[in-house]
Amino acid sequence: MKCLGCFKQNKNIYCNICKKKIFDNKNINAILDFDKKEFLFTKIQFSKNMSISGVQDKISLKIQDNKLIPTIDDGEYLLKPIPLMEYGNHIESIPINEHFTMQLAHQVYRIECALNALIKFSDGEIAYITRRFDKKNEIKIKQEDFASLANMSESSNGENYKYDYSYENMAKLIKKYLVASKIELVKFFKLVLFNYLVGNADAHLKNFSVVQRETKDYTLSPAYDLLSSSLHIPNESRTALELFEEYESKSFSENGFYAYDDFMKFGEMMGLSISLVEKLINDFLKLEKKTLELLEISFFNEKMKEEYKKIYLDRLKAVLYKCSK
Ligand SMILES: [Zn+2]
Repeated sequence: MKCLGCFKQNKNIYCNICKKKIFDNKNINAILDFDKKEFLFTKIQFSKNMSISGVQDKISLKIQDNKLIPTIDDGEYLLKPIPLMEYGNHIESIPINEHFTMQLAHQVYRIECALNALIKFSDGEIAYITRRFDKKNEIKIKQEDFASLANMSESSNGENYKYDYSYENMAKLIKKYLVASKIELVKFFKLVLFNYLVGNADAHLKNFSVVQRETKDYTLSPAYDLLSSSLHIPNESRTALELFEEYESKSFSENGFYAYDDFMKFGEMMGLSISLVEKLINDFLKLEKKTLELLEISFFNEKMKEEYKKIYLDRLKAVLYKCSK
């Protein structure tokens, strides 16, 4: 069978590597003890004590006696089911989409990602599970998202606050707050480009974070919440934030989408050398075959594979597009 973590063929539901990395080698049952109704009930129960989970379709889990059970505050895992609200097409594929996109980022694009897998409710419905990166050996690691770094909040900036910013200004925050800023800027550039290629238009301020290392300085956190949102909401804007504060390329003003020149300029604005930015873009463009191969062995049905492929190939074409000067 195919591993519910990494897609590799093996005898068990989770291969040994995934079992070790995600579940600390414990023999976790890949079918949870509860179904979605009970998930909801738990969520409502816990929400009385936790205001934050009231708005999110996820609950905390911990391992007890080789079982994953819901918990309020000491969870090492987050469980995300198929969303309860109908807000787009094919919502039943959202867990599969998030899992595939995270695996693609990690396995093919070599982006550091939160550990993740698929798991099933007791009635067989699929859900996405991810291991929290802000906890290690029971110790809480300091984490801050970019909405807080940018001082953006609903109360002072309105309900659209997560989107009312630019990737250019996020890069400025990285330079300001992170010691090894060049390494972090390269990571950030890759993540923004990856999101564009897979059609993730939900990479807003709260979906990027910094975490404190043992040496006390901060670094970008592993990537999380990656998915092709265009698969579900096809006509939304291509990116959650605009790339630039003010700048508009000739290519963008002629065509209305970000292309090669825009990503070149974006990298340059961060202070990366032209040759490095060219290399980063070209390295990603070379991954077409591997991207489609991984998509082929994913858990999507054939129709969804086709739709994902269409979005990806369209974006690839956009990034390859060079405006005649
Ligand atoms: Zn695996």
